[in-house]
Amino acid sequence: MIKIDGSYGEGGGQILRSSLALSLITGKPFEINNIRTNRRKPGLMRQHLTCVNAAVEIGGAKCSGNIIGSTTLEFNPGEIESGEYEFKIGTAGSATLVLQSVLPALLKAEGKSKIVLEGGTHNPMAPPFDFLAKSFIPVLNKMGADIKVDLENYGFYPAGGGRFTVEITPFNTITPLDLSERGEIKGKRAVSIVTNLPDKICDRELNVIRKKLLFDGEDLISQDVENSKGPGNVLTVEIESENITEVFTGFGIKGVKAEQVANGVVKKVKRYLSKDAPVFEYLADQLLIPFAMAGSGSFRTVKPTNHTITNIDIIQKFLDVTIEIVEINEDIFEIKVTR
Ligand code: ATP
Repeated sequence: MIKIDGSYGEGGGQILRSSLALSLITGKPFEINNIRTNRRKPGLMRQHLTCVNAAVEIGGAKCSGNIIGSTTLEFNPGEIESGEYEFKIGTAGSATLVLQSVLPALLKAEGKSKIVLEGGTHNPMAPPFDFLAKSFIPVLNKMGADIKVDLENYGFYPAGGGRFTVEITPFNTITPLDLSERGEIKGKRAVSIVTNLPDKICDRELNVIRKKLLFDGEDLISQDVENSKGPGNVLTVEIESENITEVFTGFGIKGVKAEQVANGVVKKVKRYLSKDAPVFEYLADQLLIPFAMAGSGSFRTVKPTNHTITNIDIIQKFLDVTIEIVEINEDIFEIKVTR
């Protein structure tokens, strides 16, 4: 039984989700305590509990401790079953994070799967749906998977009510990748979305992008969407390069000026464009499990976050791989997976 200390490193929900994903793909049981002790409300919240229950269902697992607020859990995986699944968080908790905990298993399953996920699709501090669709999933498809995602309803915090589907054709063989360069920039796009809020928020955000990132006419898109329960605003900037697409996000917050939201996104995009590191900080921690499944591969990224460092340690507890971080120069690092 692998023992995980949930307070280790980053000490949040990611340690649990990675442990679930890794336990399913290796068949190794684990026990975790101190779940999310570094958070204001420790223990399993609805999003984390949905992750656990989704992993139990997909992996025919036996589990104890899977109740709201629990800070310990024991998880014994069985056989991974492909098929049709529906996971509803019931709050605005991030549904894209639920996908994180079961996707690796379904990529290793015998057959195709289709999952419907309900909850938040556009949450601060979680991968927004657009990041999943444009950045993360295309890398997995490059590695040999065939994953299609489709957004039916937007789910913004705190109203939730988002819904999307994921169709998964598993890896036949996994192609390891070496992402050392971004390659030429092929396209860029800024999309500002509002729902149940004034359109002028989009204009103000896109104005900042026009001035500070020098995007013009067709690169600036404003959308007022109706398929959403609550109010919300999200600004995403996509940088499509030869070898990768990165997506940068800012969320409108009550009391925070639209210009300030856009400036936050500009800062991230400028940092990304000033280095030749194809993978930005969020994608870095999320690519680690697929790269470890491939058994080899590497990518260049900006300074590794606490999420990345913690995830590397968790992965090495389950899989027989070595993951090294090598500093290339200031704010460019290479992360290398070997067996
Ligand atoms: P907790 O509630 O315990 O903080 P959590 O379950 O909400 O935890 P974290 O452990 O903080 O989540 O993990 C957040 C995940 O969301 C990480 O994998 C991180 O890369 C990803 N993420 C956060 N913001 C973004 C973003 N803007 N774009 C893409 N991914 C993001």
